[in-house]
Amino acid sequence: MHEQKEEGITMDWGSVYQGEAPPWDIGRPQKEYTQLEQAGEIVGSVLDVGCGTGENALYLAAQGHEVWGIDFTSTAIQKAQEKATQRHLTATFLVLNAFELHTLGRTFDTVIDSGLFHVWSDEERPRFVDNLAAVIRRGGTYFMLCVSELTPVPDYSQLKDVMPKDFMPNFSKSKPGDYGPRRVTQAEIRNSFQDGWHINYIRQATMEGRLEPSEGHAWLSSISKE
Ligand code: SAH
Repeated sequence: MHEQKEEGITMDWGSVYQGEAPPWDIGRPQKEYTQLEQAGEIVGSVLDVGCGTGENALYLAAQGHEVWGIDFTSTAIQKAQEKATQRHLTATFLVLNAFELHTLGRTFDTVIDSGLFHVWSDEERPRFVDNLAAVIRRGGTYFMLCVSELTPVPDYSQLKDVMPKDFMPNFSKSKPGDYGPRRVTQAEIRNSFQDGWHINYIRQATMEGRLEPSEGHAWLSSISKE
């Protein structure tokens, strides 16, 4: 079970996967990723960073990609492995911290991220981007779906029943919002990928969830390593 300290706040990722599925764990791939695949934008081998219980990774494996998924929460990885077995799909799921991606010792054509980048603090962002650079081949692409500043403040009274009491009570350092994932702006994304990367696009997108409203405003970014 992992805990992350941010401004004195503990995020207990292990506990969110133990009971009822957390709001982002929708039991199917995010439609932004199915659309990217159908449009032929996802090529070759794929690493899913912060893969959770593996729905996006398993969808891409079913489409014929070689897929690895990493997440530092062992409960999530265990669930992903069980789904792979049940669905007769081949994918490699590993418990790994996203700040240790270089230890994978290989590169991928594509890296996908659904809901990981928006958990980083300002200090963590450049460290994560360095780790990404270690596992994407030159010319390979990082696709990232993160909650945007257009997403309104969630109603915590609605979340109380499904989220552990002390999970992310005040996650967001950006405004708006004092609960839930950090809202990321396009400028922040561009700022993080200035050196050694080419931003192909940042599109308005939606991130699906299990609670109402069932979709949040997100940015879908396509960023290639130079
Ligand atoms: N991509 C999944 C999960 C998104 S939630 C989905 O779409 O359902 C964010 C995920 O990032 C969680 O599963 C959490 O365990 C993982 N995570 C958070 N910090 C991490 C870190 N430092 N290293 C690896 N995984 C991390």
